[in-house]
Amino acid sequence: MATGFERHSFPSKHKYFKNRLEEKPKPQLNFKEKITNDSKPFRHKLKEKPHCLNPLSMEQRDRHPYEFELKKFSPDSKFLKIKHQVPHFQPVASTPLIMVDITEAFEHLLRDLLSQTVIGVDLEHHSDRSYRGITCLMQISTDKTDYIIDTLKLWDHLQPLNKVFCDPNIVKIFQGADSDVIWLQRDFGIYVVNLFDTLQAASLLGFEKKGLSFLLQHYCQVHVNKKYQLADWRIRPLPQEMVKYAREDTHYLIYIYERMKQDLYSRHCLGDVKITPEMKKGAPEESKDRKPKSKSSQITPVNEKGVNQVLQVWNNSRSVCLKQYRIQTLEEMYSKFYGSLNKEGKKFNNQQSYALQEIFSWRDRVARELDESPHYVMTKFNMLNIINQLHNQPENILQPISRHRFVHHHLPELHEVIVKAKAIAIQSSPISKKQTKKRGAASSSVTAVPPVSLPPMKKRKIDNVASSTITKARLVQQKISKVEMIDLSCEPNQRKELRSAKKINTCKIVLTDLVQKIDAVVVKSSSGNETRPTRKSRKVELIDLT
Ligand code: AMP
Ligand code: MN
Ligand code: ZN
Repeated sequence: MATGFERHSFPSKHKYFKNRLEEKPKPQLNFKEKITNDSKPFRHKLKEKPHCLNPLSMEQRDRHPYEFELKKFSPDSKFLKIKHQVPHFQPVASTPLIMVDITEAFEHLLRDLLSQTVIGVDLEHHSDRSYRGITCLMQISTDKTDYIIDTLKLWDHLQPLNKVFCDPNIVKIFQGADSDVIWLQRDFGIYVVNLFDTLQAASLLGFEKKGLSFLLQHYCQVHVNKKYQLADWRIRPLPQEMVKYAREDTHYLIYIYERMKQDLYSRHCLGDVKITPEMKKGAPEESKDRKPKSKSSQITPVNEKGVNQVLQVWNNSRSVCLKQYRIQTLEEMYSKFYGSLNKEGKKFNNQQSYALQEIFSWRDRVARELDESPHYVMTKFNMLNIINQLHNQPENILQPISRHRFVHHHLPELHEVIVKAKAIAIQSSPISKKQTKKRGAASSSVTAVPPVSLPPMKKRKIDNVASSTITKARLVQQKISKVEMIDLSCEPNQRKELRSAKKINTCKIVLTDLVQKIDAVVVKSSSGNETRPTRKSRKVELIDLT
C-alpha cells in the first residue's frame, strides 16, 4: 500500500552517500571543544589575533573581529598587475599532494603557506548527521603543491591558519566563499582578509554560468564531475576518487584567477565591458546579517564606467569576508520554514498550523539533543504528510512511519501533538474527505491561517503506576469505565484491543467516563522513550479533551 511517506530522501544510492545512514561513531565526539547545540548567541572563537590593527575587537565577542582590518584593507598594487602570459597550470598528475592529518604536517603546511603570495582554498562540509554542520576537509593549493587537511582530525588545532588567512599580503582565492567564510568562523575561528572570489569575478564578467565546473571548462578545458559534491565527506580513509575530486576544487584556482584578472582588465580596455547587474550595483547585495557598509568599505572610488573591474572583485569579495555566523532562534527558523512553504503555495488550516509548529519544535529539540540535522530526524515531506492526514485516526497517521528511529522513540509525544491538533475547532473550511481522496493527501490545500498559539490542554494525572505496566484494571479502578487500550508499540498487524492484564508500553487509551464524559485520553508514560517496559514507576497523564 502506498503510504505517502518515505524514510529519508538522499540524492544518490551511491555507496559514498549511503554512508550517512549508517551508525558509525560521530567524528564530532572526538573534538576537544564539545558541541552543545544550545541557542546562546555565537561568540567568536578567536584566541589570538594575527595581523591585528584594532586590539579592542578581541573584547567585542559578538562583533566581526576583523571588521576594522577588512574596512581598511586594499590589495597591494602587485596583485593588480595583469600577467600578459599566464603560466600554464601543472597537470594534477605531476603535482605533489600532501595529506595533512597530524600536527607535524600542519606545521610544515603553515611554513609553506607563509611563503606564498597567492593560494587557492576550498572546504567540504557535512550537515546530515550533525545539528549545525561540520567542516570535514580543507583543500589548499599553492602553485606547486595541493594540500588536503583532515579538519575532523585537526579540529582543535587549525586557528594558527589565521596567520595566513588574515594576512593582507596573501591572496586567498575561493570559488563562491559565502558558506566557507561562515564555516571557517563557526568551526575554527578563522577569518579571511584579502579574498578574491572567482564567483564574484564571474558575475562581473557577466558569465551566465558561474560554477566551478563552468570555469574549469572555460579556462582550463578540464571536465570535472561534481558528483561527489554531496558525498559523505566524513568518510575515512578518504576514497581515492574523493581525494581526486577534492584537490581538483582548488588545484586550478590560481590559474583561473590570473586568467580572470586578464579578462576583467582587457574587456574594459577593449571597451567590451558588458554591464551586468552586479556592476550597476557596484557591490553584491548586503545580506541581512551584515552590518551596513560604511563609505570606507569601498576599496577605491569606482567610477561609473567601472574603471577597475579587477579591484571591484576585491571589493565585492570583502563584503563576503564581512559576513558573520549567527545562531538563529527557533522562531526565526520556523518563520523561514513556514514562509518557504507559503511561497510554495502551501496553505494550512489552524489544526494543521498547530501540528506543524509542534512537530517542528519537536524535531528541532530531538536534533539538538542527538546532534543530528532536523532533516535527518524527520523530513519536510513526512512532516507535511502528517499534517495533511489529520482527518484520519491518530494511530493511522503515524503508523506508516512508526518504525522510523526517531518517531518510534517519541511515539506518545507525537501522538499527543496530533490528538491536540485534532481537538482544535477548524476555523477555515478543511478539505473534505471526498476532496482528499481525489487530490491525494499531500496536495490538499485549505485557506491560510497563521500559526496559532493555543492554551495548553487540561491535563489531569490519573494514575501513578508503581509497576512496569499500565493496565486496564488499574484505570477501571480509578472509576473510569469503558476503557479501550490500543497498543502503539507492537506491529500494526498484531495490534488489537488488549486484554486487561496485558503489559504494554506505549498506548493510546480511549475511554468514556460516565460521570465526566471524557471522550478520549492519551496516556504518556514518563519513560516514553523506551521501547521495552521497565520496572520504573510511571506517571500517567490524562489529557482531557472535553
Ligand atoms: P563545494 O564548494 O562545491 O566544494 O561545496 C562545498 C560543500 O558544500 C560540499 O561539501 C557540500 O557539503 C555543500 N554543498 C555543495 N553544493 C551543495 C548543494 N547543491 N546542496 C547542498 N549542499 C551543497
Ligand atoms: Mn567551495
Ligand atoms: Zn569543494
